[in-house]
Amino acid sequence: MKIIDCDTIITNIGELATSLPSQAFTIDNDGIISPVATAHAKDLLDLDLVAKGRAMGDVIRLEDAAIGIKDGVITYAGKRSRLASETTANGAKLIDAGGHLVTAGLIDPHTHTIFDGNRANEFIMRCQGKSYQEIAEAGGGIVASTSATRGATLERLLALGMIRLERMLAAGTTTCEIKTGYGLDQQTELTMLQSILQLSRSQPISIIPTFMPAHAVPKNIEHESYVDDIINHMLLAAKELCSMDEAARHHTYVDVFCDRGYFTLDDTRRIFAKALDLGFLLKVHADEFVNLGATTLACQMGAHSADHLLNVSEKEMDLLAKSHTVATLLPGTSFYLNLKEHARARLMIEKGVAVALGSDFNPGSCHIFSLPFIWGLSCLHLKLTCAEALSALTINAGAAIGLNRKGKPKVGIIAPGCQADINIYSVDRLEEIPYNIGFNPVSKVVKAGKTVFGA
Ligand SMILES: [Zn+2]
Repeated sequence: MKIIDCDTIITNIGELATSLPSQAFTIDNDGIISPVATAHAKDLLDLDLVAKGRAMGDVIRLEDAAIGIKDGVITYAGKRSRLASETTANGAKLIDAGGHLVTAGLIDPHTHTIFDGNRANEFIMRCQGKSYQEIAEAGGGIVASTSATRGATLERLLALGMIRLERMLAAGTTTCEIKTGYGLDQQTELTMLQSILQLSRSQPISIIPTFMPAHAVPKNIEHESYVDDIINHMLLAAKELCSMDEAARHHTYVDVFCDRGYFTLDDTRRIFAKALDLGFLLKVHADEFVNLGATTLACQMGAHSADHLLNVSEKEMDLLAKSHTVATLLPGTSFYLNLKEHARARLMIEKGVAVALGSDFNPGSCHIFSLPFIWGLSCLHLKLTCAEALSALTINAGAAIGLNRKGKPKVGIIAPGCQADINIYSVDRLEEIPYNIGFNPVSKVVKAGKTVFGA
């Protein structure tokens, strides 16, 4: 029996499923998860946790389990029978999982959640055979969202963002990244960034901000002069805004859409160099339409993730496997665009790449925010196993947005010392999440130890 210090206990868990990096945790014969002593690390904070390649399948599945929480951090994870009754008698709040499945809260490392306008008409055009590029040439695409977003006030962006985040939370997203990129002028990009920073303080989901004026070149502006404007003015202004925010000061990304018709490899290198100078972290939209070498650049410049990767080369997969750059795959986009080809996730995993999954929630190419749905798509189209998908949506998604790294909080893992972000489902087994594609299996969400969704 273990007497654990906790203020909250999630009990009656039918199946507890969690990615469990072996360099940090072990499970004993009694079914108790505990940290392993490591020679090089004083504690969990010093570790860099990510599941690479086959290690993505290292998922522990425990029946009849319980989780103890103290001050928002997990203090116990393991068999329910091993948790001493004294612990529960000590006034701890009990959350009954009803014999159902429990996982760590899901993490979305790639979203474009802030925008105004809706592009339902464009969806119908696309269904009738028009391509993404044809629609862009006809004034649709990012341009349509840009003009709607430029017309929105900060208050309106906040209200729209709040509704979307409530829906994401209900679908089990406990941490997400959000990008700017529908302003494409300094003022609107900063208003978008401001809305992201404010939303991160005013609702339960943890938000990692990304500044992305390099999402597209605005209409009627010359390519070179827009890139110069980003480098000479916009990044500095974003830095100033972030420096006033405690959380964002040292943890804001700069992202570039490096692809045909958007930004060149040279643009991306120049924008990244300036971003690094200013203390931003890096991520990149790479190899969605064609391969311009963005993934190689991402590995060379220490980007935390390279995203999309439909056309990444095998050589670059080897490079990813050796780097700290996570491959963030977005199967919702290839599904929503009705593409026949999907990212080669299996090969990446065989080669030892750390694969994460994101929604790419945006008004055009992927109007999908549900991570349980993305989980289903990843099994169907990317051929991930159910366990690999869990790692991709939790521990690796965290690493893709700079969490789980040395000195950063550990999320997406149910083990002592990790943040107590937990999803309770209305289904009983891990396989039932992808199986129930299209239905929300999340019944309760616990964020840092507090129930934030579900009764
Ligand atoms: Zn994107």
